[in-house]
Amino acid sequence: MSLLNDKVAVVTGAGRGIGRAVAIAYAKMGANVVCVSRTEENASRVATEIEALGQKAWAFAVDVSDTSAVEASAKSILEATGKLDILVNNAGITRDNLLMRMSEEEWDTVLNTNLKGAFNFTKAFTRTFMKQRSGRIINIASVIGLVGNAGQSNYAASKAALLGFTKSVAKELAPRGITANAIAPGFIETDMTAVLDEKVRGSIIDRVPMARFGSPEDIANAAIFLAMESTNYMTGQILTVDGGMVM
Ligand code: NAP
Repeated sequence: MSLLNDKVAVVTGAGRGIGRAVAIAYAKMGANVVCVSRTEENASRVATEIEALGQKAWAFAVDVSDTSAVEASAKSILEATGKLDILVNNAGITRDNLLMRMSEEEWDTVLNTNLKGAFNFTKAFTRTFMKQRSGRIINIASVIGLVGNAGQSNYAASKAALLGFTKSVAKELAPRGITANAIAPGFIETDMTAVLDEKVRGSIIDRVPMARFGSPEDIANAAIFLAMESTNYMTGQILTVDGGMVM
């Protein structure tokens, strides 16, 4: 299948986990992919995997929360690719703590990465999308942004805000044929959830009707759907992919 033939996609946080799965799934659908990650090594490894699939790939080590670094890298990305069709704002972190103990640093780092990172990358490419009169913006939020979670007030706030951001961007850019949608994953098997102990995992699985964590590929499938040219009348929506946990 080549649903994304000759499309160019930028995926942030492509070095591991969900971002890596999205980048590889897009390449398998015929896209050329820019892999953005915090560390050069992770971005380059995934870019090499994509090249082995016969697609073009570029690796950029950028901290998504650094506005001037994002602006500079967006320029270099466009010089390298010549265009951009799909932007996936996936880079994200957790710094969990109870509110009473949460430090300003824990709050700021999470908000700056998960929310400001998406603002930085979306803004950096908006002019390109507007000129092209096309574009797909896909923000990776979380079910935690919908329902909250004790110990994750910073993370939940960042993801809930990302949903408000997605809807506002969708309204601003719809007249130019650009869509902006969000995916709200449930609990997915990645490094982010590998830190959970067996007791916590068990209590999460008890709340998931499908009785398992999802795979990064489950999220990548939703990201393919939202990136397809034929998905052009859907914008400002939240696609929840969580084994039925939140409904
Ligand atoms: P992960 O395995 O921890 O990978 C995170 C990726 O984001 C890594 O590639 C990392 O870069 C990159 N990253 C982190 N901070 C960055 C920054 N400041 N600048 C650039 N890149 C940065 O996480 P994941 O589980 O795949 O999560 C991906 C997204 O899905 C996140 O937004 C997360 O909130 C969301 N999500 C995850 C789950 C879940 O259960 N796993 C559930 C709901 C939503 P390096 O590899 O270079 O370190």
